[in-house]
Amino acid sequence: MVKPERVFISIDMEGISTIVDWEEVGKDTSEYQYARKIMVQDLNAAIEGALDAGAKEIMVSDAHGRMRNLRPEDVHEAAVLTRGSPKPDSMMEGISEGHDAAMYVGYHSMKGTLKGVCAHTISGSTVQRVWFNGRETGEFGMNSALAGYYGVPSVMLAGDYAATQEAEVFVPGITTATVKWANGRYGAKCLHPKNAAKLIRAKAKEALTKKFPEPRVINEPVEIKLELTNAAMADLVMLIPGYERVNGVTIKAVYDTYPVALSALRAGIYLAGNILRR
Ligand SMILES: [Zn+2]
Repeated sequence: MVKPERVFISIDMEGISTIVDWEEVGKDTSEYQYARKIMVQDLNAAIEGALDAGAKEIMVSDAHGRMRNLRPEDVHEAAVLTRGSPKPDSMMEGISEGHDAAMYVGYHSMKGTLKGVCAHTISGSTVQRVWFNGRETGEFGMNSALAGYYGVPSVMLAGDYAATQEAEVFVPGITTATVKWANGRYGAKCLHPKNAAKLIRAKAKEALTKKFPEPRVINEPVEIKLELTNAAMADLVMLIPGYERVNGVTIKAVYDTYPVALSALRAGIYLAGNILRR
Protein backbone atom coordinates (compact mmCIF):
# COMPACT_ATOMS: atom_id res chain seq x y z
CA MET A 1 0.00 0.00 0.00
CA VAL A 2 1.15 3.53 -0.78
CA LYS A 3 2.01 5.46 2.33
CA PRO A 4 -0.57 8.26 2.41
CA GLU A 5 1.56 11.38 2.42
CA ARG A 6 -0.66 13.81 0.55
CA VAL A 7 -4.14 14.09 1.96
CA PHE A 8 -7.05 16.17 0.67
CA ILE A 9 -9.86 17.25 3.04
CA SER A 10 -13.18 18.74 1.89
CA ILE A 11 -15.08 20.31 4.79
CA ASP A 12 -18.77 21.19 4.68
CA MET A 13 -20.73 22.59 7.62
CA GLU A 14 -24.16 20.95 8.05
CA GLY A 15 -22.52 17.73 9.25
CA ILE A 16 -20.24 19.40 11.80
CA SER A 17 -20.67 18.26 15.43
CA THR A 18 -23.78 19.65 17.16
CA ILE A 19 -25.05 21.70 14.17
CA VAL A 20 -28.76 21.08 13.47
CA ASP A 21 -30.16 24.09 11.58
CA TRP A 22 -29.49 26.42 8.63
CA GLU A 23 -29.41 29.39 11.02
CA GLU A 24 -26.20 28.01 12.44
CA VAL A 25 -24.51 27.68 9.06
CA GLY A 26 -25.87 30.58 7.03
CA LYS A 27 -26.35 34.09 8.22
CA ASP A 28 -23.85 36.15 10.12
CA THR A 29 -25.33 35.49 13.55
CA SER A 30 -23.76 34.68 16.91
CA GLU A 31 -24.91 31.09 16.33
CA TYR A 32 -22.91 31.02 13.07
CA GLN A 33 -19.84 32.43 14.82
CA TYR A 34 -20.11 29.65 17.38
CA ALA A 35 -20.62 27.01 14.67
CA ARG A 36 -17.42 28.17 12.93
CA LYS A 37 -15.51 27.42 16.12
CA ILE A 38 -16.85 23.88 16.24
CA MET A 39 -16.16 23.48 12.52
CA VAL A 40 -12.47 24.23 12.88
CA GLN A 41 -12.31 21.91 15.88
CA ASP A 42 -13.69 19.01 13.78
CA LEU A 43 -11.28 19.92 10.98
CA ASN A 44 -8.20 20.12 13.17
CA ALA A 45 -9.07 16.74 14.64
CA ALA A 46 -9.05 15.25 11.13
CA ILE A 47 -5.74 16.99 10.36
CA GLU A 48 -4.19 15.67 13.58
CA GLY A 49 -5.42 12.17 12.73
CA ALA A 50 -3.78 12.48 9.30
CA LEU A 51 -0.54 13.65 10.91
CA ASP A 52 -0.73 10.73 13.38
CA ALA A 53 -0.86 8.47 10.30
CA GLY A 54 2.25 10.09 8.80
CA ALA A 55 0.71 12.57 6.33
CA LYS A 56 3.18 15.16 5.07
CA GLU A 57 1.01 17.47 2.98
CA ILE A 58 -2.59 18.24 3.83
CA MET A 59 -4.80 20.37 1.61
CA VAL A 60 -8.11 21.63 2.98
CA SER A 61 -10.99 22.94 0.87
CA ASP A 62 -13.53 25.09 2.74
CA ALA A 63 -16.63 23.70 1.00
CA HIS A 64 -19.67 25.35 2.57
CA GLY A 65 -21.71 28.24 1.17
CA ARG A 66 -19.42 31.09 0.24
CA MET A 67 -16.50 28.91 1.32
CA ARG A 68 -15.09 31.45 3.77
CA ASN A 69 -16.19 29.75 6.99
CA LEU A 70 -12.85 28.70 8.43
CA ARG A 71 -10.78 31.43 10.07
CA PRO A 72 -7.37 30.78 8.48
CA GLU A 73 -5.36 31.39 11.66
CA ASP A 74 -7.41 28.80 13.55
CA VAL A 75 -6.70 26.02 11.01
CA HIS A 76 -3.86 23.66 12.01
CA GLU A 77 -0.65 25.06 10.54
CA ALA A 78 0.25 21.71 8.94
CA ALA A 79 -2.50 22.29 6.37
CA VAL A 80 -2.82 24.51 3.31
CA LEU A 81 -6.27 26.10 3.04
CA THR A 82 -8.23 26.83 -0.13
CA ARG A 83 -11.09 29.27 0.41
CA GLY A 84 -13.55 31.54 -1.43
CA SER A 85 -16.09 30.98 -4.18
CA PRO A 86 -16.79 30.35 -7.02
CA LYS A 87 -13.91 28.03 -7.94
CA PRO A 88 -13.73 25.52 -10.82
CA ASP A 89 -13.94 22.39 -8.67
CA SER A 90 -16.04 23.98 -5.91
CA MET A 91 -16.17 21.77 -2.79
CA MET A 92 -13.26 19.71 -4.14
CA GLU A 93 -11.07 22.59 -5.31
CA GLY A 94 -7.45 21.45 -5.42
CA ILE A 95 -8.06 17.69 -5.75
CA SER A 96 -5.63 16.10 -8.23
CA GLU A 97 -3.69 12.96 -9.16
CA GLY A 98 -1.13 14.20 -6.65
CA HIS A 99 -3.24 13.16 -3.66
CA ASP A 100 -3.06 9.76 -1.97
CA ALA A 101 -6.42 9.94 -0.15
CA ALA A 102 -9.48 12.16 0.27
CA MET A 103 -11.40 12.77 3.50
CA TYR A 104 -14.73 14.52 4.09
CA VAL A 105 -15.65 16.36 7.29
CA GLY A 106 -18.98 18.00 8.18
CA TYR A 107 -20.84 16.17 5.41
CA HIS A 108 -24.64 15.72 5.24
CA SER A 109 -27.01 13.40 3.38
CA MET A 110 -28.83 14.03 0.10
CA LYS A 111 -32.18 15.86 -0.16
CA GLY A 112 -35.15 13.83 0.99
CA THR A 113 -33.18 11.52 3.31
CA LEU A 114 -35.13 10.32 6.34
CA LYS A 115 -33.54 11.69 9.54
CA GLY A 116 -30.74 13.52 7.75
CA VAL A 117 -29.62 16.76 9.46
CA CYS A 118 -30.19 19.60 6.96
CA ALA A 119 -30.36 17.01 4.17
CA HIS A 120 -29.95 18.70 0.77
CA THR A 121 -28.15 18.35 -2.54
CA ILE A 122 -25.98 21.38 -3.39
CA SER A 123 -28.84 23.89 -3.06
CA GLY A 124 -31.76 23.25 -0.72
CA SER A 125 -33.99 25.83 -2.42
CA THR A 126 -33.28 24.79 -6.02
CA VAL A 127 -32.56 21.07 -6.24
CA GLN A 128 -34.95 18.22 -5.52
CA ARG A 129 -32.85 15.34 -6.86
CA VAL A 130 -29.82 14.57 -8.99
CA TRP A 131 -28.96 11.35 -10.83
CA PHE A 132 -25.70 10.27 -12.46
CA ASN A 133 -26.19 7.42 -14.95
CA GLY A 134 -29.58 6.78 -13.36
CA ARG A 135 -28.32 6.58 -9.78
CA GLU A 136 -29.60 9.17 -7.33
CA THR A 137 -26.56 10.93 -5.91
CA GLY A 138 -25.85 13.50 -3.20
CA GLU A 139 -22.85 15.68 -2.52
CA PHE A 140 -20.64 12.90 -1.18
CA GLY A 141 -21.42 10.70 -4.18
CA MET A 142 -20.51 13.51 -6.57
CA ASN A 143 -17.39 14.67 -4.77
CA SER A 144 -16.00 11.19 -4.16
CA ALA A 145 -16.44 10.52 -7.90
CA LEU A 146 -14.37 13.60 -8.72
CA ALA A 147 -11.61 12.30 -6.43
CA GLY A 148 -12.02 8.91 -8.12
CA TYR A 149 -11.68 10.48 -11.57
CA TYR A 150 -8.16 11.45 -10.47
CA GLY A 151 -7.55 7.99 -9.04
CA VAL A 152 -7.87 9.18 -5.44
CA PRO A 153 -9.68 6.90 -2.95
CA SER A 154 -12.18 8.41 -0.51
CA VAL A 155 -11.12 6.98 2.84
CA MET A 156 -13.01 8.78 5.62
CA LEU A 157 -16.20 10.75 6.19
CA ALA A 158 -17.36 12.51 9.35
CA GLY A 159 -20.94 13.76 9.66
CA ASP A 160 -24.36 12.81 10.95
CA TYR A 161 -25.52 9.19 10.95
CA ALA A 162 -27.46 9.58 7.68
CA ALA A 163 -24.36 10.96 5.96
CA THR A 164 -22.12 8.15 7.19
CA GLN A 165 -24.72 5.58 6.03
CA GLU A 166 -24.87 7.22 2.60
CA ALA A 167 -21.08 7.24 2.34
CA GLU A 168 -20.92 3.52 3.08
CA VAL A 169 -23.34 2.84 0.21
CA PHE A 170 -21.34 4.86 -2.32
CA VAL A 171 -17.90 3.76 -1.10
CA PRO A 172 -18.03 0.34 0.56
CA GLY A 173 -15.25 0.07 3.11
CA ILE A 174 -14.97 3.80 3.82
CA THR A 175 -14.17 4.63 7.46
CA THR A 176 -16.78 6.85 9.09
CA ALA A 177 -17.14 9.01 12.19
CA THR A 178 -20.75 9.62 13.28
CA VAL A 179 -20.95 12.78 15.40
CA LYS A 180 -24.77 13.11 15.69
CA TRP A 181 -27.96 11.14 15.10
CA ALA A 182 -30.92 13.07 13.68
CA ASN A 183 -34.39 12.90 15.20
CA GLY A 184 -35.64 14.86 12.18
CA ARG A 185 -34.24 17.25 9.57
CA TYR A 186 -33.58 19.96 12.16
CA GLY A 187 -32.82 18.09 15.36
CA ALA A 188 -30.25 15.54 16.53
CA LYS A 189 -28.71 13.80 19.49
CA CYS A 190 -25.13 15.06 19.48
CA LEU A 191 -21.78 13.92 20.81
CA HIS A 192 -20.04 16.53 22.93
CA PRO A 193 -17.80 18.47 20.52
CA LYS A 194 -14.66 17.35 22.41
CA ASN A 195 -15.68 13.71 22.10
CA ALA A 196 -16.59 14.23 18.43
CA ALA A 197 -13.10 15.64 17.86
CA LYS A 198 -11.47 12.65 19.55
CA LEU A 199 -13.54 10.30 17.38
CA ILE A 200 -12.71 12.15 14.16
CA ARG A 201 -8.99 12.15 14.98
CA ALA A 202 -9.02 8.41 15.71
CA LYS A 203 -11.05 7.58 12.57
CA ALA A 204 -8.86 9.74 10.32
CA LYS A 205 -5.77 7.93 11.57
CA GLU A 206 -7.46 4.54 11.23
CA ALA A 207 -8.64 5.31 7.68
CA LEU A 208 -5.16 6.29 6.55
CA THR A 209 -3.42 3.31 8.10
CA LYS A 210 -5.69 0.50 6.83
CA LYS A 211 -6.39 -0.80 3.31
CA PHE A 212 -8.05 1.92 1.23
CA PRO A 213 -11.40 1.44 -0.52
CA GLU A 214 -11.25 1.51 -4.33
CA PRO A 215 -11.51 5.01 -5.82
CA ARG A 216 -15.16 5.67 -6.72
CA VAL A 217 -15.53 5.95 -10.49
CA ILE A 218 -18.61 6.93 -12.52
CA ASN A 219 -18.56 5.33 -16.00
CA GLU A 220 -18.21 7.70 -18.95
CA PRO A 221 -20.00 9.04 -20.93
CA VAL A 222 -22.04 10.42 -18.05
CA GLU A 223 -25.77 11.14 -18.08
CA ILE A 224 -26.84 13.75 -15.56
CA LYS A 225 -30.47 14.28 -14.64
CA LEU A 226 -31.62 17.16 -12.46
CA GLU A 227 -35.03 17.63 -10.83
CA LEU A 228 -35.64 21.23 -9.78
CA THR A 229 -38.16 22.68 -7.35
CA ASN A 230 -40.19 24.50 -10.03
CA ALA A 231 -40.62 24.50 -13.81
CA ALA A 232 -39.36 28.09 -14.28
CA MET A 233 -35.96 26.90 -13.04
CA ALA A 234 -35.98 24.17 -15.69
CA ASP A 235 -36.99 26.78 -18.31
CA LEU A 236 -33.80 28.68 -17.44
CA VAL A 237 -31.49 25.65 -17.38
CA MET A 238 -32.74 24.73 -20.87
CA LEU A 239 -30.79 27.79 -22.11
CA ILE A 240 -27.59 25.77 -21.60
CA PRO A 241 -26.73 23.89 -24.80
CA GLY A 242 -26.93 20.13 -24.41
CA TYR A 243 -29.79 19.93 -21.90
CA GLU A 244 -33.01 18.10 -22.82
CA ARG A 245 -36.35 18.43 -21.04
CA VAL A 246 -37.66 15.28 -19.36
CA ASN A 247 -40.75 16.91 -17.78
CA GLY A 248 -41.76 20.23 -16.25
CA VAL A 249 -39.16 20.20 -13.53
CA THR A 250 -36.60 17.66 -14.80
CA ILE A 251 -33.84 18.04 -17.36
CA LYS A 252 -31.00 15.82 -18.48
CA ALA A 253 -27.82 15.83 -20.54
CA VAL A 254 -24.94 13.54 -21.50
CA TYR A 255 -21.26 14.52 -21.37
CA ASP A 256 -18.08 12.68 -22.37
CA THR A 257 -16.22 13.07 -19.09
CA TYR A 258 -17.19 13.22 -15.44
CA PRO A 259 -15.63 16.61 -14.58
CA VAL A 260 -17.47 18.24 -17.51
CA ALA A 261 -20.74 16.58 -16.46
CA LEU A 262 -20.29 17.84 -12.90
CA SER A 263 -19.51 21.38 -14.15
CA ALA A 264 -22.61 21.33 -16.37
CA LEU A 265 -24.73 20.23 -13.43
CA ARG A 266 -23.35 23.01 -11.26
CA ALA A 267 -23.89 25.56 -14.05
CA GLY A 268 -27.53 24.46 -14.28
CA ILE A 269 -28.01 24.76 -10.53
CA TYR A 270 -26.43 28.23 -10.40
CA LEU A 271 -28.64 29.38 -13.23
CA ALA A 272 -31.78 27.86 -11.69
CA GLY A 273 -30.97 29.65 -8.44
CA ASN A 274 -31.69 32.95 -10.16
CA ILE A 275 -35.42 32.26 -10.17
CA LEU A 276 -36.50 31.38 -6.67
CA ARG A 277 -40.16 32.49 -7.10
CA ARG A 278 -42.62 29.74 -6.31
ZN1 LIG B 1 -22.93 23.02 3.26
